[in-house]
Amino acid sequence: MSYRTLTEQEAVEYARKIPNLFPQDARLVSREIGDGNLNFVFHIKDERPSGKSIIFKQALPYVRVIGDSWPLTLDRARIESEALILENELCPGSVPRVYHYDTDLALIVMEDLSDYEIMRKGLVERKRYPNFAKQIGTFLARTLFLTSDLAMSPLEKKRKAASFTNPELCNITENFVFTYPFLDDPSNAYNPLITNTVQRIWSNDELKLEVARLKERFMTLGQALLHGDLHTGSIMVTEQDTKVIDPEFAYYGPMGFDIGAVIANLLLNYAAHEGHTPDPQEREAYQAYLLETVSEVWRVFETEFRTLWEEQAQEPYAKTPGYLDAYLLDVLKDAAGYAGCKMMRRVIGLAHVPDLESIADPALRAKGETLALCIGQELVLQRGTLSGIDDVIKLIAASA
Ligand code: ADP
Ligand code: MG
Ligand code: MG
Ligand code: MG
Repeated sequence: MSYRTLTEQEAVEYARKIPNLFPQDARLVSREIGDGNLNFVFHIKDERPSGKSIIFKQALPYVRVIGDSWPLTLDRARIESEALILENELCPGSVPRVYHYDTDLALIVMEDLSDYEIMRKGLVERKRYPNFAKQIGTFLARTLFLTSDLAMSPLEKKRKAASFTNPELCNITENFVFTYPFLDDPSNAYNPLITNTVQRIWSNDELKLEVARLKERFMTLGQALLHGDLHTGSIMVTEQDTKVIDPEFAYYGPMGFDIGAVIANLLLNYAAHEGHTPDPQEREAYQAYLLETVSEVWRVFETEFRTLWEEQAQEPYAKTPGYLDAYLLDVLKDAAGYAGCKMMRRVIGLAHVPDLESIADPALRAKGETLALCIGQELVLQRGTLSGIDDVIKLIAASA
């Protein structure tokens, strides 16, 4: 079958034809539930009592929120399905299971996680997730370490990197994370009340030099297979469990980019509670929880990474005194820098986060946005001086 976008009804017909997915007499209904910028997501359910359900994710040959004036490769669906399969091998249970992939239709058939909710939503409601830091820190350590030259033969690693070149999606990041937000580009969309702060960023040459260096590393440092879009809208949670979705931006890049994405989105939520949580005690308590989570994510990542290094490193230099510590410090500095870029781009650039967007009063929203910009700048400018995660937390506390 050649490519066409499925309707809800065609999705049902397609689901019936996949062997061993639904019983013959299943009563299937389908609903398009996608809330992302790029793709269609269908929820398909057997309506009989205790009937099963699945998810179809289909890539469109253009950017969904823009339309066919902005074409985008369907190959991202292959990349997403291969990344999900690999992530499940490297860190079992951390992602939805892939049941089927259709190359022609750019269609992934996967496990339904409707019992989970998008983490960003829970964070706005000040929910706490006691296992999140452990689970995401482990996911980061395992997927990043095990796809790097530390754990793979350099031949195998370069073959893997070649199958995950993702130029069109990388280019979206290059433009919308690293370039457009830092100059007066027509795609930017910021709250008019923060114009002065935004203009100070645009005229800060020291800051722009650091952003340029971070962008260069994003474009040239093929350290490990990244998720590539690991914000809290790509993380689904229950009180007990964490699953990562949507790795269509996967490519070989700097490890700190994925860790920085998690940190940035926890901190964007931290800033948003300036608007969502008027009671100062309640706000400070939740913000303290978010900072502890940032710290814990890094600590788990570092501990797991050290263990993997001790047990599984293939790199001949792995036993060299000082190498592991130096490696991790570079990753931390990158994570801080990328977190800073991502915080700023979510305030100044095209794609905002619902955490801040859902603050109705523009003046109150400006307060959260200004804090996010302040923390973002500090993370980018001070990353070279960091010697551990405690320094990151101090830096954030000093910005508040
Ligand atoms: P996009 O690439 O367009 O951002 P996502 O993969 O992020 O698409 O999915 C969009 C939305 O669809 C998610 O925010 C979530 O609500 C829902 N969704 C995606 N995958 C699943 C899944 N496996 N189970 C349940 N809901 C899902
Ligand atoms: Mg998404
Ligand atoms: Mg899990
Ligand atoms: Mg996506």
